[in-house]
Amino acid sequence: MSSPALKVKGLHSGYGDIRVLRGVDIELPPGAVVALIGANGAGKTTLLRTISGLVPASAGSVEIGGTPITALPSHRVVEAGFVQSPEGKQLFSGMSVMENLMVGAHGRRAHARRHETLEEVFDLFPILKERRSQIASTLSGGQQQMVAVGRALMALPRVLALDEPSLGLAPIMVDRLFESIARIKARDLSILIIEQNVFQVLEMADYGYVLENGQISLSGTGPDLLADAHLRATYLGL
Ligand code: ATP
Repeated sequence: MSSPALKVKGLHSGYGDIRVLRGVDIELPPGAVVALIGANGAGKTTLLRTISGLVPASAGSVEIGGTPITALPSHRVVEAGFVQSPEGKQLFSGMSVMENLMVGAHGRRAHARRHETLEEVFDLFPILKERRSQIASTLSGGQQQMVAVGRALMALPRVLALDEPSLGLAPIMVDRLFESIARIKARDLSILIIEQNVFQVLEMADYGYVLENGQISLSGTGPDLLADAHLRATYLGL
């Protein structure tokens, strides 16, 4: 049996005396889209930052494809295959689309394959090819989000983590973004997606986890979670 693309076990972390994650367990099979849901402040971003090595773990372990990555510096985590597209995009606003995309390909393996990967990103987001010389800050919000996802793909992830990719986008752009995510999934890479659009993300995801107060309180397939009374009341207002 192949190893999970990502395996997080008993992960604890926080900021100084503030404990945020209190023993988180999640697992992503290869090629799966997994949703992470939770209220503001539940610790979703902290989980991504801890996996990435930006916030130190005080206990627990993280593996990518069966290889332990706990406590590695963040550039080594990227090289091992965990790449995130952060909340709020964090593009270099004065740089062109092309320059922003190339920033993603600075690792050795990614750099060697950058021309092929760029063609794949342009295939996925044709508008970025048209606008490749345009300065990032002059793009629409949806296009900037495509650059952020494209930049993460340039790093050749095995696991792509998307932190609230639909934040601030018009509904039509959210639909397009979710279509693109479904197409990225077809490329056989695993995706961990944090989303406030709970209904839409659970319709697309193979599996979902609910994070509450730094612990996984509920998990299941999209249909199972959408049928759960607590989830419906808390996150869908039903
Ligand atoms: P949101 O949906 O609002 O982004 P989240 O689930 O991603 O929420 P986190 O951003 O991980 O939650 O925050 C979890 C807790 O950690 C919150 O109580 C937050 O105030 C706290 N926190 C986050 N970043 C820091 C920091 N740099 N220093 C201290 N506390 C922090």
